[in-house]
Amino acid sequence: MRDGAGRRALKRIALWNFSLGLLLTRGLRRLRGERAFRLGGDCRRCAACCEAPAVQVGVLVWFVPTLRRLFLWWQERVNGFRLTHELLQQRVFVFECTHFDRATRACDSYESRPGMCRDYPRLLLFQANPEFLPGCGYRALAPNAALLRDALRRAELSGAKRDKLEKDLQLD
Ligand code: SF4
Ligand code: SF4
Repeated sequence: MRDGAGRRALKRIALWNFSLGLLLTRGLRRLRGERAFRLGGDCRRCAACCEAPAVQVGVLVWFVPTLRRLFLWWQERVNGFRLTHELLQQRVFVFECTHFDRATRACDSYESRPGMCRDYPRLLLFQANPEFLPGCGYRALAPNAALLRDALRRAELSGAKRDKLEKDLQLD
């Protein structure tokens, strides 16, 4: 169901909080020397990322019943995310989104979509081997891709070998 004014206002506040959290956590990760992949490609608007939105949570939300209930209540009542299943090992809640129309593959509340929908797939860029959804138009680029690509182009390699290395090293 399309978001009304009240839900849009709540989600705007949540978005500020989400954006601030991202700024801090990603800034800290960079300060600690973690080098994220860069984002290449474009969004093809295939809506694969709306099919089963998933959120990984911390140990407190996962194990403390009150926090877990509160988190799931917020996801359902504010974000329109209905829990479908859980991935125990990864502490991930998987949802179906009530804003997603599977027939038209459109979001009925795109302007007020949550921060995680706006951020996707940037979260993956901190993984060791980012795996995008099948059909996603984005791809991960190694942080030093330009330097490595230049080095490969100077090396005496066949075109096929160079192409394979560029692909394996996520330079393209
Ligand atoms: S899966 Fe990727 S290409 Fe498709 S809508 Fe989501 S971000 Fe865009
Ligand atoms: S809120 Fe909109 S953008 Fe986010 S998962 Fe649902 S349909 Fe997709």
